[in-house]
Amino acid sequence: MDNSVSNSIYNSSVTCPVCGSNFEVTKVKIRSCKVVSRDSDFCTYYENINPLLYDVWVCENCGYSSMKDKFEEIGAKSAAIIRKEIKPRWTKRSFSGERTVDGALEAFKLALYNLQVRNAPCSEFAKVCLRIAWLYRFKGDKEKERQFLEFSLKNYYDAYQNERFPLDKLDEFTCIYLIAELNRRLDEYEEALKWFSKLISSPEARKNAKLMNTAREQLQVLREQMGRHE
Ligand SMILES: [Zn+2]
Repeated sequence: MDNSVSNSIYNSSVTCPVCGSNFEVTKVKIRSCKVVSRDSDFCTYYENINPLLYDVWVCENCGYSSMKDKFEEIGAKSAAIIRKEIKPRWTKRSFSGERTVDGALEAFKLALYNLQVRNAPCSEFAKVCLRIAWLYRFKGDKEKERQFLEFSLKNYYDAYQNERFPLDKLDEFTCIYLIAELNRRLDEYEEALKWFSKLISSPEARKNAKLMNTAREQLQVLREQMGRHE
């Protein structure tokens, strides 16, 4: 079996919900994606091709950019804002074809900019910022990774307080877990402890055994970190 990237991707045509034009997006064949490992904040590593790199679609004609699973969901009001604020500044440019981590970063940052212009919910910012942090992790850029983990965490706090669960596919307990784990990664140990404890003491959360196991493991990692800093 040929595992090269070019054999793992294919193009398909979509219609932009903002400008109505057709353009090509690049998709990843699911059978090409073999998970090798997963970090404690759900960043996933694959054997050959990482589908994360292709998760943002960019309309080459108007610059509308979004996570692909949300691409078609845009409302009329948001579409009008993109036509007014982004399209006039956009130079026609295609994002189809094989993507490097840098190419993916560019697409994700466009998606982030689109969210800002649309004044989108914090949960959407949190999700995109976490993925940008992962892309910087792939590049080994610790400073930028940390900066985007901070943006992501700030938006998960806001989403937790002000939005109704589930946040798209994210349930309340996974959100609490992420808040705890991102705090741990950012060396905010007391705050991480508070949120891990909140999760572990919740009778409702116990229904998700896998999440609870991961939370207990990370709490152990946190206690070791805290011990070293005493
Ligand atoms: Zn468009």
